[in-house]
Amino acid sequence: MTETVPSHSREVAARAADLVKTYGKGAAQVRALDGVSLDVRAGEYTAVMGPSGSGKSTLMHCMAALDTPTSGTVTIGDSDLGELKDKTLTLLRRDRVGFVFQAFNLVPTLTARENIVLPLSIAGATPDPEWFATVIDAVGLADRLDHRPNEMSGGQQQRVACARALVSRPEIVFADEPTGNLDSTSGAEVLAFLRRSVSEFGQTIVMVTHDPVAASYTDRVVFLADGRVVDELRDPTAETVLEHMTALQALAGQNAGQDL
Ligand code: ADP
Repeated sequence: MTETVPSHSREVAARAADLVKTYGKGAAQVRALDGVSLDVRAGEYTAVMGPSGSGKSTLMHCMAALDTPTSGTVTIGDSDLGELKDKTLTLLRRDRVGFVFQAFNLVPTLTARENIVLPLSIAGATPDPEWFATVIDAVGLADRLDHRPNEMSGGQQQRVACARALVSRPEIVFADEPTGNLDSTSGAEVLAFLRRSVSEFGQTIVMVTHDPVAASYTDRVVFLADGRVVDELRDPTAETVLEHMTALQALAGQNAGQDL
């Protein structure tokens, strides 16, 4: 049976608290995250934006248990990632988190159906047939399930990747520039599906993007600059996102000027 999940529950699905991540040592040290705190609410679609090098990927990787922060804590649900052993972290990534990458990351020798159920198969589980059908219908892939990735367009491949991320009903899905390799029509289809999975299925999604149009599909945009959260916008439109980006760039320019 398909559960109905309230679309705007106030629960926190994931939390970053005072995250610091440094790379390298001494003069060459880079502070990729410089004290980031962020609550991701369950049933919300959150975009993370910021200039190249602002720490978006690092933040997402730390929150998704793909990387470890230098200091600070990340919690997913009630689990403090810093307290989990490697094996438990692996299980958490497999069972409780979904991923959508810019490069699709499908297995070329498997069909769409096999790719979608692969994480569940690895876990020794099978998808709930009704939920599988709902997801397949929502991504519009019913007639493509027996095709291999090289027989599908980029947009179709990314919709397979979205279905793979959602079919296990993870607590949270992290999407890293999911439309970065797609034309605008295919990108819009993927974004519409991700939006629908939040609004109708109660999924929680965090998406890194540099595209104001992609961000306009979300509920909330968090802006990073130099490893810090510098701004936030609710119920964004492409226009308001662009305005914020322009204002932040102007501010960055002023600050750079002061440094001279
Ligand atoms: P964004 O995703 O916003 O482009 P990143 O999180 O990739 O930003 O990078 C933030 C900063 O950390 C950048 O200055 C980048 O060069 C640096 N950085 C990221 N990963 C590494 C790494 N593995 N080694 C050294 N520096 C890194």
